Amino acid sequence: MTESDIYHRPDTLADALALLSDTPLRIAAGCTDLFPATERKALPSPVLDITGIADLRGIKRGPDGVTIGATTTWRDIIDCDLPPAFDGLKLAAREVGARQIQARGTIAGNLCNASPAADGVPPLLTLDAEVEMQSAAGARRLPLSLFLTGPRATAWAPDEILTRIHIPAHASDGEGFFLKLGARKYLVISIAMTAARIVLEDRIVKWAALAIGACSPVAIRLPEAETALTGAPLDPMRITDAMIADHLSPIDDMRADAAYRRRTALELVRRTLTPLVRERAA
Ligand SMILES: Cc1cc2nc3c(=O)[nH]c(=O)nc-3n(C[C@H](O)[C@H](O)[C@H](O)COP(=O)(O)OP(=O)(O)OC[C@H]3O[C@@H](n4cnc5c(N)ncnc54)[C@H](O)[C@@H]3O)c2cc1C
Repeated sequence: MTESDIYHRPDTLADALALLSDTPLRIAAGCTDLFPATERKALPSPVLDITGIADLRGIKRGPDGVTIGATTTWRDIIDCDLPPAFDGLKLAAREVGARQIQARGTIAGNLCNASPAADGVPPLLTLDAEVEMQSAAGARRLPLSLFLTGPRATAWAPDEILTRIHIPAHASDGEGFFLKLGARKYLVISIAMTAARIVLEDRIVKWAALAIGACSPVAIRLPEAETALTGAPLDPMRITDAMIADHLSPIDDMRADAAYRRRTALELVRRTLTPLVRERAA
C-alpha cells in the first residue's frame, strides 16, 4: 500500500485527532469541493474522512445558543426547526448547488474551502458565528470573521479539525434573509450574495446585522449601513451607496466584472431587507 492509498474513517473525534497529530492528512467531509478541485477519481494524499464521527453532525439548541456540528449538511439545516433569525442561513442552504450537493456538502466544508463565493458565510456573519477547532492539544474558538483570512485561506492549522460552529444566544433574536445574485436562478455560483438579520422592537430597528459576499477577498459585515438602519423604522432606502461601496474590493472574473458587482451591491442589500419590512407590516 502506498501513502496515497491510505484512507482513515474513524468513529470518534479522539481517534481522528490522534491520527492528525501523527501525520498530515487531507480532511474529507462531503467532498463536493475536494473532488472538483482534485480533478481525479481518487483524492491524492492520505485521507481522513470525518463523516463517520457521529458527534460532529447535528444541530443543538441550548442556553448558550445554537451549535452546528461540522459535518451537518445543508439538507440538515433546511430540515431543522430553528428561530426566524436563521432564515437567512436556511435560504442560503437551499441555494447551495442542487439537492444532491445539499445532501452531501457540509457547513464546515464550505467555511474551510474559504471561497469568497461561499454562500454559508454571509448569513453566519449576521449570526455572529464562531468556529471551534480542535487538535490533540486542545480546543480554540475564533469569530468566523477572523477564521477567514483571505481567498482560500483560513486560520486552520494542519493538526486541527473544525468541529463546531457556535451561534451565541443573542443572535437567535430577530429575522434573517439571504439573497443571491447569479447568472441564472438555480445551480449557480454567486456573483454576489447578501444576508441580513434585523431585530425590531415596537417596529423600530433595535439591531441590524448585514453582510455581503463575493465582493471582497472574504465576505464582510457592513457596519455603516447597520448603524444607518438602527433606531428607526426598517427602511432599506436609509442605506446609501457610500455606506457599502467604500468597503468593497470586487474583482473581475468569469461570472461578472468588478464594476457590475459594485453597481449591484446596494440594490442587493436593499432587496435583502425588503421582505423583512413586508413581513413586519403584515
Ligand atoms: C455542483 C456543485 C455546486 C455547488 N454549488 C455551491 C453553491 O451554490 N454555493 C456554495 O457556497 N458552494 C457550492 N458548492 C461548493 C460545495 O458544495 C460547498 O462548499 C460545500 O459546503 C462543501 O462541503 P463539503 O463537505 O463537500 O467539503 P469538502 O469538499 O469535503 O471539503 C472542503 C475543504 O474543507 C476541508 N474540510 C472539510 N471539513 C473540514 C473540517 N471539519 N475541518 C477542517 N477542514 C475541513 C477539506 O479538507 C477541504 O479542503 C458547489 C459544489 C458543486 C460540486
